[in-house]
Amino acid sequence: MLAWLLFAGAGTVSCLHTSTVAFGNRPSPFGSRRRSGAARLSADVDVDVVVVGGGPAGYVMAALLGRAENSVALVDPKPDGVWPNNYGSWREEWEALAASLQMPELLDCVSTRWAKTDCFFGGSFDTPDDERTTLDRAYLKVDRKALKATLQEKHAAAGVQLLDGFVPAAAIAPNLFDGGLVHDASGSTLAVKSAAGETTVRARLVVDATGFESRLTVRESPSAGGLWRELTPGYQIAYGMCVDTEDDNIAPYDPVAMTLFDYRTDHLQGTSMLADAEARPSFVYVMPEGECDGCGASAFFEETSLVGRGERRLEFETLKQRLIKRLEFHGIKYDPASVREEEYCYIPMGGALPDMAQRVVPIGGAANTVHPATGYQICRMLASATGVANALTAELQRPDFDPDAAAAAAHASLWPEGNRLQRDFAVFGGEFLGSQPVEILRGFFGAFFALQQDVWGGFLAGWPGLPGNDNHATYLARIKFGIGIALKFPPKVAAVFVGYLATFTAQYGPLILKSIFTPVFQIGMGPAAPDLGLRARRERERDVYVVGDAAAKKEAVAMLKAGRTPGKEPKGEPSPQVELLEAEAV
Ligand SMILES: Cc1cc2nc3c(=O)[nH]c(=O)nc-3n(C[C@H](O)[C@H](O)[C@H](O)COP(=O)(O)OP(=O)(O)OC[C@H]3O[C@@H](n4cnc5c(N)ncnc54)[C@H](O)[C@@H]3O)c2cc1C
Repeated sequence: MLAWLLFAGAGTVSCLHTSTVAFGNRPSPFGSRRRSGAARLSADVDVDVVVVGGGPAGYVMAALLGRAENSVALVDPKPDGVWPNNYGSWREEWEALAASLQMPELLDCVSTRWAKTDCFFGGSFDTPDDERTTLDRAYLKVDRKALKATLQEKHAAAGVQLLDGFVPAAAIAPNLFDGGLVHDASGSTLAVKSAAGETTVRARLVVDATGFESRLTVRESPSAGGLWRELTPGYQIAYGMCVDTEDDNIAPYDPVAMTLFDYRTDHLQGTSMLADAEARPSFVYVMPEGECDGCGASAFFEETSLVGRGERRLEFETLKQRLIKRLEFHGIKYDPASVREEEYCYIPMGGALPDMAQRVVPIGGAANTVHPATGYQICRMLASATGVANALTAELQRPDFDPDAAAAAAHASLWPEGNRLQRDFAVFGGEFLGSQPVEILRGFFGAFFALQQDVWGGFLAGWPGLPGNDNHATYLARIKFGIGIALKFPPKVAAVFVGYLATFTAQYGPLILKSIFTPVFQIGMGPAAPDLGLRARRERERDVYVVGDAAAKKEAVAMLKAGRTPGKEPKGEPSPQVELLEAEAV
């Protein structure tokens, strides 16, 4: 951190309006791979890739692209800020990512670890209120300050240029912006604004890491997503606070376990809040942080509505009141003055995927890697980042570099057909969970966590490369998962589930059926045509629509020439297309 401050203080390049910090002692980031002899456009900063957005996704992408020796600029409106969200992760996923990203430092970016995870689904289907479901799976809280500092060190080592500012552009159609960002044949030019002024950045590629509600990334149409009608995002809303409790006791929560779900409503019995809490459920999520000085224990409590939209989107105030009641009911006393890290969690989930024809390459929230049924994102983003960085690096190294082909390669790495089919399944899951009363959710989750750990863990992960994902990555795996969980459902949950599947399909189309009966939807289509990629498609387009039937045109030219007698009027004139060929031949 100290190094960062020193760099920030010493490295400001005075000729630029926006404060620009070049890290490390590496030679010029405009490496030897830059187009030799290419005319430099007038820009204050000229790089291979500009990454826009200073959240975890932007920092990770800048680190990976820099490590691969691309010259990188990172636009962050708050470089000295602390990321606002508390990120939780399964330890197994975090460890797998540290290995696959070749970033062992991630293992040190952990603030708290819990060896096991608890859930409470009591109050329905004869499950007593005090019944605890213990999942023998370790959980952790990411140390967001350490993670940012670690990635900043990687930026320093790779010579990533930090631009303290924001990009004022907004897309009005794929590849078209209302100003501030313009694409051309060899790259893009964008403006970075800050209080100090404006900097012009020239980049061969633009990575959008500005989060789910990005203004740079355009979403695909419902029909491109296989839907009959629009399916808008849902929202995970949560109110959380960290408090110091007045005694050692945070019971019924185990101080050495992370509580993932407490879906009970016993604390609201006899109150006017009960009916709403049953119809629009919320659960508490508890992260005990151990003993604290001068008090019993410190813990982060978050009352969370898993997902909802419209009338089922919960209000922060409702969640706060439910949380206060819950803690009162359990006799968990805390000093109001100790309330800190109040979190107003707002996570858009689901919705349409990015339009694959655009040149801006999204990552993280902007790329819809948020899990549509859980809101988890950080591990999915980390798991997807390597593929995107590798695809872009490979494209940047090509002598025939084409920014659209590079973007297409990144889109293909993020959302190949297999990932989309798997996501469709999870989208349906999110829609189901967001529409049910608490009784059905308790029955659903009771069955879900009774499955084998790598099966439920794989669903929560839901991204290639994360542990357990193989249990969901193919249609056969999804059928197996569907049958497995249905057999564990209480009959009422099974009936509601089947009814919801029919209603959803009638409304939105066979999204979920295609995800589980994939081959049926391919009947009569023959083997899929090999995707030749954008570059080959472009060449073919030129051949068909520009070159045309060259043989016919040549023949016409030859015949016209043969028919001409010097000194005499020509018998005919070439058509404009043929004339063009004739002129080119000359
Ligand atoms: C309260 C909360 C708790 C969460 N908990 C978890 C969790 O436990 N586990 C988990 O996996 N996920 C969790 N999530 C989800 C996850 O945090 C988000 O999906 C994640 O932060 C997205 O990261 P990102 O880098 O893609 O985008 P963001 O974190 O949204 O960062 C976007 C960045 O882009 C910047 N930006 C925006 N527009 C511009 C512009 N025009 N120019 C320049 N910069 C711009 C923003 O200032 C910001 O710095 C949580 C989310 C919230 C809100």
